[in-house]
Amino acid sequence: MIIVIRPHSPPDKVEEVIREITQLGYNASPIRGEYQTVVAAIGDETTRASLESLTALPQVERVLRVQKRYKLASRESQPDGTVIDAGGVKIGGDNFVLMAGPCSVESEEQLLATARAVKAAGATILRGGAYKPRTSPYEFQGLGPEGLRLLETARAETGLRIITEVLGENDVDLVAATADILQIGARNAQNFQLLIACARSGKPVLLKRGMSMRIEEWLLAAEYLLAHGNPNVILCERGIRTFENYTRNTLDLSAVAVAKQETHLPVIVDPSQGCGRADLVKILCRGAAAVGADGLIVEVHPHPAEALSDGQQQLDPDAFRELVAGLRPFVSAAGRVL
Ligand code: PEP
Ligand code: MN
Repeated sequence: MIIVIRPHSPPDKVEEVIREITQLGYNASPIRGEYQTVVAAIGDETTRASLESLTALPQVERVLRVQKRYKLASRESQPDGTVIDAGGVKIGGDNFVLMAGPCSVESEEQLLATARAVKAAGATILRGGAYKPRTSPYEFQGLGPEGLRLLETARAETGLRIITEVLGENDVDLVAATADILQIGARNAQNFQLLIACARSGKPVLLKRGMSMRIEEWLLAAEYLLAHGNPNVILCERGIRTFENYTRNTLDLSAVAVAKQETHLPVIVDPSQGCGRADLVKILCRGAAAVGADGLIVEVHPHPAEALSDGQQQLDPDAFRELVAGLRPFVSAAGRVL
C-alpha cells in the first residue's frame, strides 16, 4: 500500500502515520519529496489488516492499493489456465464448450426434445432451470425437484452433462445431487453464504456476473468459491444493466477479455440473457468466440413462443443448429476446438 501524506504536514504527523503502519504489521518506508511525502507500507495486504482506514487521519490524503484483492483467482497465482472436468466434459484449455437448453425445465417432452436437438448440433452440456429466479412472484417459478428428476432423465438418455441453477443455500445438497455444474445466477452472485455452500458441495460452479457488478466484484465472488476450497470455478458474463434498452442487458465482451487476462479461470458467455433477443444470439456467439471465451451457454426451446420463461430470447432447434454451423470457423480462428 502507498500512503500519500497531505502537502505541508509537519514531520511529527508523518511519524504518526509511520507508527500506525508499523503497528498494523507492515514495514514503513517513507519517501520524502519536495512538496509531499509518501509512505510505502511493505507487507502482504491479503493477510494483514487493510490500511485504507488510515484516510481517517487528517494528514493522510489517499491510500493506494498495490496488490490485487483476489489472490487465488489471479493469473499471477497460476499462469496456466484451469481446465475443469464436469462429469467428463473438459472446460478450459483448447476446448470450446457448448452448453444449451431451455431457460426453464417445463415438461419431459420439452426437455427431451431440446436435449436431443442440442446434442445433435454439438452441445455437450444441457442447461435448464428447475428453480427459477423470476422478477414477479406470479411468474413460473420452475418445477423444483420434479425438474431435477427430468434433467436426470435427459442425462440418462443423451449422455449430456447437466448445468442447473441453485437459488438458495438450503437447496444446495438437493441440486448438487443432480447437477454436474451448479449455476449461480446473476441475482445471487454476491450471496456470499450461497457461494460458500456451493463451494463446499465439491461440484464445479458456474458463476454468473451480477447485473450491476464491477469486474473486480465478480472476481472477488469467484475468490469466495476458491477460498472455500472449490477450485472448479467457471466465470460467466451474461450482460450488465446499462441505460441502453434496445437489448435486455449490455453484453460486456470486454469483461471476457479482462477476466481471461486477470484470472486463470474458464470464462463462458451467455448471449441469451446478455441481449434478450433471439435475433442477436448467433452474432454475439461469434463475438464471444473471437474475444477468447471458453464456451457458450445458449437458451434453446422447441417452441420459443410457448416458453414459460424468456421466450423472446430462446432459439428453436433449427436456429441453434445453424448457429453452431456458422460458429465453427470463428472457434477455429480463435485456436479452439469445438
Ligand atoms: C438463466 O440462465 O435463465 C438466468 C436466470 O440467468 P441470469 O442469472 O444470468 O439472469
Ligand atoms: Mn433465462
